[in-house]
Amino acid sequence: MRADALLHRIGEQCRAAGRNPREVTLLPVTKTHPAAAADYAARYGLAAVGENRVQEAAEKRTQTAAAVRWELIGHLQSNKAKLAVEHFGRIQSVDSEKLLNVLDRAAGELGRKLPVLLQINAGNDPAKFGAEPADAPRLLELALTKAHLQVEGLMTIAPLSDDPAVARRTFAHLRTIRDQLAARSGVPLRELSMGMSGDLDAALAEGSTLVRIGSALYGPRD
Ligand SMILES: *Cc1c(COP(=O)(O)O)cnc(C)c1O
Repeated sequence: MRADALLHRIGEQCRAAGRNPREVTLLPVTKTHPAAAADYAARYGLAAVGENRVQEAAEKRTQTAAAVRWELIGHLQSNKAKLAVEHFGRIQSVDSEKLLNVLDRAAGELGRKLPVLLQINAGNDPAKFGAEPADAPRLLELALTKAHLQVEGLMTIAPLSDDPAVARRTFAHLRTIRDQLAARSGVPLRELSMGMSGDLDAALAEGSTLVRIGSALYGPRD
């Protein structure tokens, strides 16, 4: 089973980095796969799945009885914020003041406190969403004023590159940003969502607490 192999690899990489594997969560990414992929994850004992589109996740949720939490890992348009708050247990892709405002309002209307991660473009990749590192302090400051949002950490996507050092540098940068923001704000920002199928090892070496894995678990997407 691929999940067994993956968890084994996470364990080995953690031990090599002197880390406790229990600090790391495996988030299966079910995008483009049928709702059965979420059932599979739930049966395996995984608590949450990741999706990058609001509509796709909303549809799949009606097709599965799996008691998993759905996490949004893809770009969110503010006009879909309300729908996103209805369907996702946590939103990892919060990268603007506007999104903070609309998500806080939507969560308030639904009477819930929404866990979020701030997505930071730690690799300074023009092809990626995410707040610029220089804007991260201001974004966090605003997020912490929101009564209906709970900031749990940071998320990043490394630039696509043949050079593994690029991903490693990006993840180290996100961790540095987290450490600085946590020290300044006094908020732990425990979650570091970084690492996908292709850059998992680099992410674990740099302190990832949550790896978002699609193809290494479910096979290639077409
Ligand atoms: C698709 C996706 C993943 C998973 O990618 P794989 O390379 O298939 O593991 C992780 N994070 C985000 C934001 C994604 O969109």
